[in-house]
Amino acid sequence: MTAAYDLIIVGGGPIGLACAIEAQKKNLNYLIIEKGAIVNSIFNYPLYMTFFSTAERLEIGDIPFNCLAPKPGRQEALEYYRNIHRYFNFSIHLFERVAEVKKQEGRLFKVKTDKNSYEAKNVIIATGFYDIPIEMNVKGEELAKVRHYYKEAHEYAFRNVLVVGANNSSVDAALECWRKGANVTMVIRKNEINNRVKYWAKPDIENRIAEGSITAYFESNITEIKDNEVEIQTPKGKITIENDFVLALTGYQPDLSFLENMGIQLSDDEMKTPTYHPETMETNVPGLFLAGVICGGMHTHKWFIENSRIHANMIMDYITAQ
Ligand SMILES: Cc1cc2nc3c(=O)[nH]c(=O)nc-3n(C[C@H](O)[C@H](O)[C@H](O)COP(=O)(O)OP(=O)(O)OC[C@H]3O[C@@H](n4cnc5c(N)ncnc54)[C@H](O)[C@@H]3O)c2cc1C
Repeated sequence: MTAAYDLIIVGGGPIGLACAIEAQKKNLNYLIIEKGAIVNSIFNYPLYMTFFSTAERLEIGDIPFNCLAPKPGRQEALEYYRNIHRYFNFSIHLFERVAEVKKQEGRLFKVKTDKNSYEAKNVIIATGFYDIPIEMNVKGEELAKVRHYYKEAHEYAFRNVLVVGANNSSVDAALECWRKGANVTMVIRKNEINNRVKYWAKPDIENRIAEGSITAYFESNITEIKDNEVEIQTPKGKITIENDFVLALTGYQPDLSFLENMGIQLSDDEMKTPTYHPETMETNVPGLFLAGVICGGMHTHKWFIENSRIHANMIMDYITAQ
């Protein structure tokens, strides 16, 4: 056990790093603990994705994000955040998972990981929402051909691919796979493509559906996935189509039990919003803070980089004022 830190930051995503920058500026003795690579969620994004945010809105620590196009892609974002680490030389442990955060007698927290144990006066949870897919709970979902993460299209070329969902991830995957030669079908619960879909992708997918290049079943649900087929409940009845792969891009959810185990209260409604003070980001457990997209609970679109990087300043101002 090393000496107690002023602050432990759980999660080395953009907002965890933003918190570390502010902690460094305030001369706090801090440590970031990240279970994967630096900015692990972005590392796991589709290889050729384009951010909906422009580059300057992804900046942290007032370090310019240089990018030729207005909106960067995954590779450029990884380069940017790697350079941020080179510049600030963070105190960070990568590939170490935090298993438990517990407040001990007095004010110190004990932070247990899969490798070590630490003590800290304050803890920030900035663990995002990208690690747990929202499952469809249908028969056959456990088959290897069903994927909840999409990387790139090549594997799907010249195959029958079913894309579930009508949000950005589903639309990007459907268009990319179709352009690389896949026979793409979409199954969409609602009666339209989601309004949050990027403004350049929405007309593209709607036109591909209108011209019949991509088949879309609206107001429909998968009822069963088999080795070579999928059953779909459509408004006109049940149909069966040939299928090689299912891209179930039905969204992701934060690890809410991780928060509850630390004593953080969640709202009773379906959003499961964690309790925190909107000006200090301190939860109902004194000294335990939330930052970044995790703050929204199941409302995973409420917070993103541009509107949550400010959490870093709010927390550090509060900690240092105490
Ligand atoms: C495909 C896609 C595109 C997106 N595009 C945009 C965009 O254009 N603009 C935008 O602002 N947002 C975008 N987002 C949302 C984006 O993911 C978040 O805004 C951003 O990543 C939030 O940063 P964060 O630091 O809060 O969380 P994350 O980036 O998710 O970071 C959380 C980190 O915590 C780590 N972690 C989790 N649990 C533990 C644990 N127990 N122990 C240790 N480490 C842990 C994770 O590995 C991860 O690295 C997009 C999301 C997706 C999925």
